[in-house]
Amino acid sequence: MGVFHVKHLADQQADVIVIGGGHAGCDAAHAAARAGAATILITHRIDRIGEMSCNPAIGGLGKGHLVREIDALDGVMGRVADAAAIQYRLLNRKKGPAVQGPRAQCDRSLYRKAMQAEISTCPRLSVIEAAVNDLSVGGGRVTGVVLDGGEVIRAKAVILTTGTFLRGTIHIGDKRIPGGRIGDPAARRLADRLRDLGLPMGRLKTGTPPRLHRDSVDFDRLDQQPGDDDPTFFSTLTSRVTASQVPCHITHTSAETHEVIRDNLSRSALFGGGIEGVGPRYCPSIEDKVVRFAEKTSHQIFLEPEGLDTPLIYPNGISTSLPEEVQAIWVRTIPGLERAEIVQPGYAIEYDYVDPRALTPGLALRALPGLWLAGQINGTTGYEEAAAQGLVAGLNAARAIAGQPPQHFSRTDSYIGVMLDDLTSAGVTEPYRMFTSRSEYRLHLRADNADQRLTPLGIAAGLVGERRRRAFESKRESLARSRARLEAHAITPSAANAKGLSLNEDGVRRTALQLLGRPDINPETLFGLWPNLGDLPAYDVAQLAREAHYADYITRQRAEAEELRREEARPLPAALTYEALPGLSSELRQKLTARRPATLGDARRIEGMTPAALALLLVAAKRLEQAAAQSRRA
Ligand code: FAD
Repeated sequence: MGVFHVKHLADQQADVIVIGGGHAGCDAAHAAARAGAATILITHRIDRIGEMSCNPAIGGLGKGHLVREIDALDGVMGRVADAAAIQYRLLNRKKGPAVQGPRAQCDRSLYRKAMQAEISTCPRLSVIEAAVNDLSVGGGRVTGVVLDGGEVIRAKAVILTTGTFLRGTIHIGDKRIPGGRIGDPAARRLADRLRDLGLPMGRLKTGTPPRLHRDSVDFDRLDQQPGDDDPTFFSTLTSRVTASQVPCHITHTSAETHEVIRDNLSRSALFGGGIEGVGPRYCPSIEDKVVRFAEKTSHQIFLEPEGLDTPLIYPNGISTSLPEEVQAIWVRTIPGLERAEIVQPGYAIEYDYVDPRALTPGLALRALPGLWLAGQINGTTGYEEAAAQGLVAGLNAARAIAGQPPQHFSRTDSYIGVMLDDLTSAGVTEPYRMFTSRSEYRLHLRADNADQRLTPLGIAAGLVGERRRRAFESKRESLARSRARLEAHAITPSAANAKGLSLNEDGVRRTALQLLGRPDINPETLFGLWPNLGDLPAYDVAQLAREAHYADYITRQRAEAEELRREEARPLPAALTYEALPGLSSELRQKLTARRPATLGDARRIEGMTPAALALLLVAAKRLEQAAAQSRRA
């Protein structure tokens, strides 16, 4: 990595400039450089590249899928998270592979170090430590950036990944402090410039909990939550755990906690009218939870270490914007936290975002050529959503300057495609986060097959390095060999049943691969039938079992998704009462009642709409039409 100092900048010119060294910025800069562009990453502070602004964890439901997809395209987030992981947990372990979410608690400082190492060793990528104050625009397109000292750096493409920094305002009770996150400046001039350019912009907010000192927590009285014995890595290139593994602990808010919070609601920035922005529905503050779920007397809190060499504990589940002195009172009403010392108070942050409907599905701004946007600036929340967008913007900026068309990611190939389509077609009015329920193809879009789905695309796009390409190709060849061997063995039901299986006696021969997909047949049973298959690699057997298990369901799911597409023009009758429709979430019930979409296609474009809800609407609409037809005939 070249690190340039501002006084030497006059001659600098890049193919691609990325503004911001957060999660979107790092994957954007790395992807642009991998795709062949001479890239400069400009960020406020080099030592905060890869900073986790909120919780020190990567992955989870839906988000873990995104990280696997980033990794499949040789992006950096997955392997950095593996290098920093201090506790792995596969969420939804008891459910099917399609909805399992790999997650890792990370050491915040190891994460930064690993990310900075990735950035500093990436060919064609340089870093400048500076604040960008303005975009330089000429001939109707962005031609570079202007730094706070007035220096201009020219570029053929610019990617903005400024996260929560645009007109960022931190709120703690009635205190308001300009800032992009605690300890960092806000980006005000740049935000004003975007508004002057006429971009459609709004305000969103998010929050973070107080950080506690480890020595002031009574861990002995709390339940311990260890990590998984068999860690699920994010990167297919990771083969072992490198950092020490530690447990988390669990506690709960109490009735007394809720009482103190309720008594002080008027002093909360969130409830006292101090914040105009909309917050994340799926990551509510403790004030929100106490008000919205008034019937509950307790909420779960995970006490997560921020790292191995830091005394900081992150209490997951209690983000707040109450005054510091009030936080100090209610935190001590929580079992195990009676002596807790707050090292850094919780706070809320409000910031500008750009309506992502102003972007192409490749994340280029339609109205101003030469500019791409990625991450929290597009109304999303979370490191994973940011990094995935960064990768897309970095790749497409590099492709644009090489005269190539944008790389398309579709809803059928990836969660990345789902997110791009959701954002650019439905927009956001509240921070967007990924869930598996957003995909109509979720049995196919599994975390376990992300490389099979996307690495070939990454290789074709020039994104994938030699090491991954070789590893992927040898894995693909091995899977093909194993699949062929499993398909070459077949047995009739009567012969199989004679050996202890219980297949339907329909006379149809089943291949070993088909048998492997059955939930009642494990590999050992199969090897009992055909001992010569016992030398198949264990990874191949597990992966092919998942494939075979889902094969029929995936065909059915595809047909359902296609039916929903075909039915987009179907009118939703006025007689359809959403309040009475079972199975709809209260979020969608409210939105549908308020909007009354004319057709199924209009309903699909409602922010937060899920394929499952659309299927319910289709059935209900058909039923009402049939009833109306019957009454006309009667
Ligand atoms: P960031 O990680 O914010 O990175 C932005 C980068 O841009 C920084 O490096 C910054 O220095 C740089 N930058 C900005 N402006 C300029 C400029 N003008 N010149 C040069 N550099 C600039 N997400 C959740 O999913 N759940 C949560 O509960 C949650 N809580 C949060 C609480 C707080 C207080 C904050 C601040 C964030 C929270 N987030 C949460 C969001 C999460 O941090 C972001 O989703 C994620 O960091 C977004 O990544 P990003 O790359 O878009 O932006």
